[in-house]
Amino acid sequence: MRQAPDVHQAEPIPEAARAGLEALLQSGDLFRYTAPENAPVSLLEAEFAERIGATYALAVSSCSAALFLSLKALGLPRDARVLIPGFTFAAVPSSVVHADCIPVLCEVGENYRVDLADFEAKLDTVQAVIISHMRGHTSDMDAIMGLCDARGIPVIEDAAHSLGTTWNGRNIGTIGKIGCFSFQSYKMINAGEGGILITDDADLVGRAIIMSGAYEHNWKKHPVLQDAFARWQNQLPLYNLRMSNLSAVVIRPQLPELARRVRDGRANHDYVAERLEASPYVTVPAPLAPEQRAPDSIQFNLLGLDQDDIRAFAEAAKTRGVAVQVFGLSADNARAFWNWQFLGDLPDLPQTRAMLMRACDVRLPVRLTRAELDAVADILLEALAEVTGPVRAYGT
Ligand SMILES: *Cc1c(COP(=O)(O)O)cnc(C)c1O
Repeated sequence: MRQAPDVHQAEPIPEAARAGLEALLQSGDLFRYTAPENAPVSLLEAEFAERIGATYALAVSSCSAALFLSLKALGLPRDARVLIPGFTFAAVPSSVVHADCIPVLCEVGENYRVDLADFEAKLDTVQAVIISHMRGHTSDMDAIMGLCDARGIPVIEDAAHSLGTTWNGRNIGTIGKIGCFSFQSYKMINAGEGGILITDDADLVGRAIIMSGAYEHNWKKHPVLQDAFARWQNQLPLYNLRMSNLSAVVIRPQLPELARRVRDGRANHDYVAERLEASPYVTVPAPLAPEQRAPDSIQFNLLGLDQDDIRAFAEAAKTRGVAVQVFGLSADNARAFWNWQFLGDLPDLPQTRAMLMRACDVRLPVRLTRAELDAVADILLEALAEVTGPVRAYGT
């Protein structure tokens, strides 16, 4: 039997991080606001904003913290309704609840993207929108921005897992009013934990910076318009969601690696997708035309299999060493909306539910070799054959 690769092991952190860490360990200067200038977190913010094509960036403790601060910085009142996709990570509705707002769930199609008809139908009932580009699958941002701009509704892009994806050549995260990214270990850049918020709105980022924990006059260490801050002095709560210099020195040397990771990830994904699509039981939803993906995992839908077959397939793949997560079938999956019981009243989203019951998720870290990708594809196809029997040729 083929040896399955370990798909949870990350790429090594670039050697260049070592010097930064050594200097930090020597100086003990781990807090972002101790140094008068050029703290690693500040340098990361400037570099990230430049690279992604945004005016301002604020590094924080996680993408969830960035989403929470975004809602707070928008000044949404208590109980404001926030439209989110019915297919996202549990941290997203959680950040809405954390911000004292009410998540409103919208249907998602079998291509993992926001269902625009349901989105439009619910849009007039909400005061803000979060679009999660789940696993990098980009919803139609032209249509979404058109609908939201016409109503003056702010859009937050949850690009936690989409760093490097582009839409019409623009980086995902720069299209809405605010973009949020994650540096958790399973994302494109790995600091264990961490997040960053980007925007072109000086006043908004000023509020977010203060609320992230720039107490007293620490906001003066942010190279943004100083005028954006003065009027908010002592007016906002301090939630202390700052990033530590330790995280920033681990992230900064990974930024120049991003283009290569994106290239490798896309090639790996497309290779495995092509192999899997040779099976009549598998379909890999295509990107939308303006989208260039940056995947580090693959999602595919199983066709013509009932739930028992789908379970048996996941079990057969697991026995061979490849973990397949069927979003709706794996127990307590944090991406299945019916498990977000902390929301209380859960809506019925039949279309999203049907997708989740047959959508499979397999990690494909960008470091995998061609032989390892073949092992993953072989195992998935063997597991499928075990459940379906040999595939009959057409016409027989
Ligand atoms: C990982 C992820 C998050 C949460 O990111 P954290 O940095 O762990 O808080 C939110 N949304 C999506 C789509 C994610 O993939």
